[in-house]
Amino acid sequence: MTGGAGFIGSHLSERLLSEGYEVVCMDNLRTGSVENVSHLLDRPGFRFVEHDVTTYIDVPGEIEEVYHFASPASPADFERIPIPILKVGALGTYNALGLAKAKGSRLMLASTSEVYGDPLVHPQPESYQGNVNPIGVRGVYDEAKRYAESITMAYRRHHGVDTRIVRIFNTYGPLMRVDDGRMIPNFITQALSGEPLTVYGDGSQTRSVQYVDDLVEGVRRLMQSEEWRPVNIGNPVEYSVEEVARLILELSGSESLLARKPLPEDDPRQRCPDISRAREVLGWEPGVLAREGLSRTVEWFAARRAWST
Ligand code: UDP
Repeated sequence: MTGGAGFIGSHLSERLLSEGYEVVCMDNLRTGSVENVSHLLDRPGFRFVEHDVTTYIDVPGEIEEVYHFASPASPADFERIPIPILKVGALGTYNALGLAKAKGSRLMLASTSEVYGDPLVHPQPESYQGNVNPIGVRGVYDEAKRYAESITMAYRRHHGVDTRIVRIFNTYGPLMRVDDGRMIPNFITQALSGEPLTVYGDGSQTRSVQYVDDLVEGVRRLMQSEEWRPVNIGNPVEYSVEEVARLILELSGSESLLARKPLPEDDPRQRCPDISRAREVLGWEPGVLAREGLSRTVEWFAARRAWST
């Protein structure tokens, strides 16, 4: 698991361990944290390796499955560390594919709804080819992931590597970085500390948010399926950013106000997955309502706050 100490990687590592897999969790800790996997360190079959996957990956022994989940993914990171993002999408994916090729492993690439950019087709089916600005600030992530899909398909066609591509839509839950900079961690942290919730633009842009447990289930089903085409995994219930802010205020019992901030460059107007393929091929659909998943996440952030102060 590359990016195994990240938000999604750590949830997935835990799931794989509980299914009886041995997990090699690799992370350079640039945005991941050992804290995310501290509860797994003593579990039999779990090994943490601090390594930057933009350099050659060496793992002894046999490997059944490679999950390439390493990448900073917050828009705040796109401005802060653009070159590492491009490198992990390009060189990191190249090295992960090289590992899978050498070991005869199945490889899953964690791709993203960002390959659709600011979409002109709504909701977005996997066949939509996107509307990405290659030279904008978000381009570093969008294009890195588009390249990653491309090289994954080249390894499949040219080297016969058995690949899977999951296009992940906005995902939230416990273990997200408090200072991650994304909508949900920002809103929850602000609500819990009584600060205004920073709504960018007029808050009418939309996102479709899924709870991490639903994503993990979709990822496992995809890995076990024979579907090599990209598959959207996301919750198709769409909210405006302002609705998410108000829901978080309600669930946290906060009296914070909303504060308007400028809309970031190329911020997608709308985003919603068409999950027909996941339904048909994987029999998957999300089961956790936003109200429930966000409540659990607010509780986790509140407990973490209490513990760290
Ligand atoms: N957003 C916001 N306030 C914040 C952080 C984000 O209004 O403090 C908005 C952002 O402009 C975007 C949406 O929330 O329209 C989702 O942003 P996020 O950073 O979670 O990731 P994205 O889906 O854009 O990749």
